[in-house]
Amino acid sequence: MKNGFNMVNLIEIQRFPVFFGLKGKYIHLFLHLMNQENQFKKVIAHAKEYGFVFLSSEIYDGLSAVYDYGPNGVHLKNNIKDYWWKAMVQGYDQIVGIDSAIFMHPTTWKASGHVDSFNDPMIDNRDSKKRYRADELIENHLNKIRSKIEKEVLKARKRIGEQFDRDTFLSTNQRVGGHQKKIDSISHRLTSCLKRSDLVGLKNLIEELAITCQVSGTNNWTDVKQFNLMFETKLGADKQSASDLYLRPETAQGIFLNYLNVQKSARKKIPFGIAQIGKAFRNEIVARQFIFRMREFEQMEMQYFIEPKTQKHWFSYWKEARLKWHLALGLGDDYYRFHEHENLAHYADAATDIEFNYPFGFKELEGIHSRTGFDLTNHQKYSGKKITYFDPHTKQSYTPYVLETSIGLDRMFLAVYTSSLKEQKLSDGSTRIVFELPPCLAPVKLAILPLVNNEELVHFGNHLVEKFKWDLSHVFDAKDTIGKRYRRQDAIGTPFCITVDFDSLKDNSVTIRNRDTMDQERIHVEHLKQVITSKVDMNSLLKTL
Ligand code: ATP
Repeated sequence: MKNGFNMVNLIEIQRFPVFFGLKGKYIHLFLHLMNQENQFKKVIAHAKEYGFVFLSSEIYDGLSAVYDYGPNGVHLKNNIKDYWWKAMVQGYDQIVGIDSAIFMHPTTWKASGHVDSFNDPMIDNRDSKKRYRADELIENHLNKIRSKIEKEVLKARKRIGEQFDRDTFLSTNQRVGGHQKKIDSISHRLTSCLKRSDLVGLKNLIEELAITCQVSGTNNWTDVKQFNLMFETKLGADKQSASDLYLRPETAQGIFLNYLNVQKSARKKIPFGIAQIGKAFRNEIVARQFIFRMREFEQMEMQYFIEPKTQKHWFSYWKEARLKWHLALGLGDDYYRFHEHENLAHYADAATDIEFNYPFGFKELEGIHSRTGFDLTNHQKYSGKKITYFDPHTKQSYTPYVLETSIGLDRMFLAVYTSSLKEQKLSDGSTRIVFELPPCLAPVKLAILPLVNNEELVHFGNHLVEKFKWDLSHVFDAKDTIGKRYRRQDAIGTPFCITVDFDSLKDNSVTIRNRDTMDQERIHVEHLKQVITSKVDMNSLLKTL
């Protein structure tokens, strides 16, 4: 976990700040963290209360970093999958989909480099017994210095007003220069330690920077150790003869191993892509941020096979295309930023993350990686099978390069969730929870609500259910007051509620209520489908891509 903080500890610190030796701006910082933490706690509670996400095996006190999706969660998740799959596979003639197995031949993971290199450097604090990723402790320290720069920028902008020029300020201000120097020097050392797997160097850096544990507040650290993230399992009934397998830590390798099958059967010419949605498993060292970092999760990955030396072009193409896909949802442009990698994975010659501003700060949502010819070359080497492409124009064969886009479905779910869940003050002084999900992602598109639980109104409502059930996901609810039922639908993000009243029996019209504006309008039943689908239809969004 990056930037993790312990909930109980923060509550204690807030209650007794002086006891913890905190004064002035530090109290302010902790209150800010506290606020973020509270916001996040509300998200987690909401997800459980309204049937979106449950802790796995909860009646046995749960399983760490494993979660189940409830009745509303599974709809939201499927809608996100749909949005991705349609944008990728239906949107591009040259992209096709597959669904490969989770179990793969164990040599796959030797060839991909996962057996030797899929490690995270871990470190424990002896006092709190808390485990951290060593590189993330240093990254968090860097983020703190970065936020000092941002504070200087804010102050200067306030002081200078409209004349303020960010670039000039950053390049001329002495204090900023000092911070930037520190960042460059620490980043350089971090990169070099990670590249050389220099675990002693990482520990020295943590000590020199006086990084302390957020729980115990001490710097009583153990040595740094490498930890492989793959889960092992056995294939076969007999313990002796059973062979070792891994649960796949990424879906990408299933695509690489099928490159030849797909290219031939789908008769694709380069450039072309293979897309896949599926489960991946990682034995994460630290997993404390709800569904952000799970041990079992889903990925939506697309590998684009290209001619070598064209990777720069495709890297910027896919960066732009993927950001556009995110922005089209309308969650707010400020939620996203790119983060270019300095520490490249063993297979990549360029990589960037699309980061999202979660309640715990900007974190990776999607990775775009230029994977070179690493994967196919290695699978060719380990399998002894020729994995190349014959270019019909140049009459030459080559090993394709790969441009990958890889997004965590659960992280996307969390991004949509945290940015859409709002607490709104109403003009009468009351508050309502409103889940302002993009309408096409909402689990329920339409709620059908008889004004009162009367036989005729219920009958009319049931008739509407029959009319719409194959076109729109819906709920029918006749219990409680209409106000309570509206609130329930607001809280799960239903874009439209329809109220059936006694006039409906005479004029075949109903009242339609808009989730976001709470405006109500009388509408004839025959116009309902057109009005609702025009707002909740995913295709109109896809057409803007
Ligand atoms: P991180 O640096 O956060 O550990 P990563 O760089 O290892 O992520 P990738 O290997 O690039 O992640 O995986 C692609 C995507 O899969 C990520 O962008 C993320 O959305 C998702 N992902 C990776 N690990 C997890 C996890 N443990 N839980 C949920 N989603 C994950």
